[in-house]
Amino acid sequence: MDDASPLSTSSRPTAGAPTCADCGTELAPGLLACPTCRRLVNSERLKALAAEAEQARHAGDLAAALTAWRSALDLLPADSRQHEQVLLTIQGLSRQVEAGAAAPGAPTQASPSSAASASSGRMPDARSARLSQADPGASPVAAASAPRAPAAGARTGNSKGAAQAAAGLGSLALLLLSKGKMLLLGLTKGGAGLSFLLSFGVYWAAWGWKFALGILASLYVHEMGHVAVLARYGIAATAPMFVPGLGAFVRMKQRPATRREDARVGLAGPTAGAAAAIAAYLGFLAGAGPVWGVIAKLGAWINLFNLLPVWQLDGGRGFAALNRSQRWFAVFAIGAAWAISEEGLLLLLLLVALGRAAGRDAPAEPDHPMLFRYVGLLALLTALAVIHVPGAPVR
Ligand SMILES: [Zn+2]
Repeated sequence: MDDASPLSTSSRPTAGAPTCADCGTELAPGLLACPTCRRLVNSERLKALAAEAEQARHAGDLAAALTAWRSALDLLPADSRQHEQVLLTIQGLSRQVEAGAAAPGAPTQASPSSAASASSGRMPDARSARLSQADPGASPVAAASAPRAPAAGARTGNSKGAAQAAAGLGSLALLLLSKGKMLLLGLTKGGAGLSFLLSFGVYWAAWGWKFALGILASLYVHEMGHVAVLARYGIAATAPMFVPGLGAFVRMKQRPATRREDARVGLAGPTAGAAAAIAAYLGFLAGAGPVWGVIAKLGAWINLFNLLPVWQLDGGRGFAALNRSQRWFAVFAIGAAWAISEEGLLLLLLLVALGRAAGRDAPAEPDHPMLFRYVGLLALLTALAVIHVPGAPVR
């Protein structure tokens, strides 16, 4: 801080002990608001972020606006009204992103309702830079599932959910096809390329280069599915990193703000992974060799494993957005998939899903596109995981 000059002869340890700019109270590290006068510790930074976000939104760059608002969210106490408002703004923008994805080429103009919610999130209290309390009992999660401004032209109902999910799947496939440049870019960042080569060496030594290349490519496509949706939502993340013999991962530098976003980021991986498995299977059908059948089968199995509705696995994140009755529907679907396919992995999924359905953490509001996506992926990946490949060395 400015007042901690080296000439200061104060007996108090000045280094590393910032004080409130208003009342002089010493601020413990990590505090977001002064405990005495409630002044926001990062008010200057918050103002800059709000300005940055508004500028990006006016320029039509929703992802950049979202990135700035997410950074602001991290600087606001979770029980403050500003936190709640910024969260609502993020929800509004993120719905706009979804609407834009469902209808490619749709103008990114703010709809009247979301514009209203965006401008109401301009932190009116930034003038005084003072913290205001949210209603007691309104937790961030409650705020996340609170009724929100409807997105542009929002209709409700299952048919809309199904159509949106189908459009989402379609546009994701399109994105993967058209963003070949981005697919390659991921590998040139940081240690990602090196981690890929290390993994390639391990798989090559064990199973030959074709299998190594195919299975790593499908893992990579899975991760880039996450990366593509993270980028659309303006959530900062690393390039995919490979762990030899285990798989790959993308580390998020910001958190999704709502269950809805988190679920879409989560299931983007298996969605892209399923597309990769289908591609390998088509290669197998076209006579490229049994190795492509094995890659399709194993790739599908790995993505099916990722649908386990637990922890931070992709399926767990998708499941978190489903309400109670939707979770029971998913349990039924998993049971049916197991009865038809007799794939043992599905028993594990069934067990875990039962636990999640019986749990008490389900939101009240349903997420129809998410249920449609989860069940669709389940059916597709199960079918691919049990294909017959003559002479398949793996399963
Ligand atoms: Zn994943």
